[in-house]
Amino acid sequence: MRKIFYEDINIIDFEATVVSCEYDEERKLYKVLLDATAFFPEEGGQSADIGTLDLQEVIDVQIKEDLVYHYVKNALAVGTMVSGHVDWNQRFDFMQQHSGEHILSGLIHNKYGYNNVGFHLSTNEVTMDFNGVLDLDQAREIELAANKIIYANLPIVVSYPSADELSNMEYRSKIEIDGQVRIVTIPEVDVCACCAPHVATTGQIGIIKIVGLQSYKGGVRLNILCGERALQDYSEKFDSVSTIAQDMSTKQDQIVAGYNRLKEEYQSLKTKINDLQSICLSMSLSSLPSPEESKNAVLFTDITDNVAIRNAVNQLMESYSGYCAVFAGSGSYRFVIGSKNLDCNELAQKLRTDLGAKCGGNKVMIQGSVESSEEDIEKIFKEGL
Ligand SMILES: [Zn+2]
Repeated sequence: MRKIFYEDINIIDFEATVVSCEYDEERKLYKVLLDATAFFPEEGGQSADIGTLDLQEVIDVQIKEDLVYHYVKNALAVGTMVSGHVDWNQRFDFMQQHSGEHILSGLIHNKYGYNNVGFHLSTNEVTMDFNGVLDLDQAREIELAANKIIYANLPIVVSYPSADELSNMEYRSKIEIDGQVRIVTIPEVDVCACCAPHVATTGQIGIIKIVGLQSYKGGVRLNILCGERALQDYSEKFDSVSTIAQDMSTKQDQIVAGYNRLKEEYQSLKTKINDLQSICLSMSLSSLPSPEESKNAVLFTDITDNVAIRNAVNQLMESYSGYCAVFAGSGSYRFVIGSKNLDCNELAQKLRTDLGAKCGGNKVMIQGSVESSEEDIEKIFKEGL
């Protein structure tokens, strides 16, 4: 079969004869073989081209034993001529990403000796894995060098060296391949065995941006964006930054400083609110029956600050001889209970058995949560504990 994508990557409209069309039970699709195709299949970590065959959508394109199969919903008659159309936007986008990947892989290989050991290119993500570690500064340096190669607008050359020539060549992805090896060269930058479509010159990549770097299997995984994807990302980030800057009434390059100021203000307000909650809770303790009237003190409140609750329990324990409890919330409560004289573990057991509370602690103080009514909780403390 003719592979039109190897003859001219710019050809996206073609005519071809249907050689076979079989129903694939597993995929519930027809698997069509043509005598020629411009569809580049899923290969080497890269998703397949999309497009149409006689106006019906090509759902997937796979290669097996050097034959390219197109997956479609409706059968195509064997022996008839069909018109194929490859979506140029996705093809060109993939070419930009893939050529960008070669530049980065070549530069990293040349400088650090690492190999690209994993590559994934789909419509929403490009990742590349290296068998060595890079830090952010090193990645930035490589990124700048890669973009300078874009500015230099170098040719990206495809060649098919003979077996003899290959044996004397230095190139990446050197694995034993039966048949013709396709070599993609960017002069002075990279030589790599690769079957995928590439842009004609590095300038067509537009821009390369590394947007993610993480440790991966003892090496590093990079997320990258090339060409229009990088522009799109910049536009989205610009929108976010300008919205935040407007809200903060600050300049865009001042938003980190502005954010740090807000964070400090937030922390200081949080501290003040907690202090006020402590004071409020402490004042509400006077509404409880006096220690002479009741051994136990049980307070319900909607104040939820942990420190305030703990302070209130400690304060109650100074005057009440029984259990001193604060339940925070409504219907669903978090609680802290303390006692100078009684065993809180015993109470914990009762709360668990009678009300299904989840709690733990020690003899002097317990804490936990319970879903129950105020009345049922109060009953526990009145039942002669
Ligand atoms: Zn490649």
